[in-house]
Amino acid sequence: METIFTKIIEGAIPSVKLHEDALCIAILDINPVHKGHTLVISRTPYPTISECPSETLAHLMHVAKEADAKLRSTLGCQGTNIVINNGKASGQEVPHLHIHIIPRYDDDQQKFGFIKHPYADGEIAQYGKKLEF
Ligand code: AMP
Repeated sequence: METIFTKIIEGAIPSVKLHEDALCIAILDINPVHKGHTLVISRTPYPTISECPSETLAHLMHVAKEADAKLRSTLGCQGTNIVINNGKASGQEVPHLHIHIIPRYDDDQQKFGFIKHPYADGEIAQYGKKLEF
């Protein structure tokens, strides 16, 4: 399936490329949370991690770790959010597997917008039982 990222990989759409190898490229996100926000994109357009071989996923995470180190050493961010929006329900806009590496700074006032809910009495144990793997 063709996505905006396959077009970037083919060079049909311009990007600022930070890294490339046999399995992935890393580019700057065009609409960053903070400058330097990086995307590590699988060359093969797996829609989500479910379709991606584990070895490839491990490689993408290895490259994300290198991006994290570069952002910390060059921009001086104190942390990063490393995020995969994995499926449309999770907010994934481009159905082509990619990892976001988002620079974060102490007191930068950014937050995830999740609303969290505690479990009812005893419920956490039931979920634990159902979800063992
Ligand atoms: P997601 O919601 O996880 O699918 O994220 C897709 C990301 O791709 C967004 O953060 C967009 O800003 C980014 N994006 C979309 N088009 C481009 C582009 N042409 N170059 C770089 N980043 C892009």
